[in-house]
Amino acid sequence: MTSRDIPHYETRTAICEYGRSLLDDDLTTGTGGNLSARLDEDRIAISPSGIPYADIKPADVPVVRTDGTVVEGETEPSTELPMHLAVYERRSDVGGVVHTHSPYATTFASLGEAIPASHYLLAFTGSEVPVTGYETHATEALGDAAVDALGESYNATLLRNHGVLTADGSLDDAYTVAQMVEYCARIHYQARAIGEPEILPDEEIDRLRGKLDSYGQ
Ligand SMILES: [Zn+2]
Repeated sequence: MTSRDIPHYETRTAICEYGRSLLDDDLTTGTGGNLSARLDEDRIAISPSGIPYADIKPADVPVVRTDGTVVEGETEPSTELPMHLAVYERRSDVGGVVHTHSPYATTFASLGEAIPASHYLLAFTGSEVPVTGYETHATEALGDAAVDALGESYNATLLRNHGVLTADGSLDDAYTVAQMVEYCARIHYQARAIGEPEILPDEEIDRLRGKLDSYGQ
């Protein structure tokens, strides 16, 4: 099968490439974490379950309807499909979702502590990275907890005792947010280790959010 014969080839390729980046960027280990992109009103592409990121090919990447039915791809969708679908259902502005187990951010998730804005790049996600209550992985309850924490405007939340969920206008942007959350978590952890970091006020975060829309462009 050539790339022209594979529906949504570019998006499904991006899922493969960002999956490998999750490992290269130390945002997850093994087959942990998962990512997805909205294709249209009724369908998303999502990383498959249990396949090493190095081995996933575009034709493997499942295309799934919002009711959970798989319409393309030879593999099972990620077990966290319910959480991804919950985010797309609740947030019409979201075009991409990334879930990681990145170590510094997950450290705060295990403490049940939101990450405050001790670094200005936290403005990529909102005034803080909130944290959900604990729910078992791969359940609808976890999806409900995640969308409640994200609300209408946060681009990231910690999943208690588990990891991180980011959501933004595109998969590219959701991936950038996942990197920023881990970076800010690391800085906050380090700052707390030797002192008491100063937290930026909400007004400054609001001002930064406008500026960061053009970050890296
Ligand atoms: Zn997970």
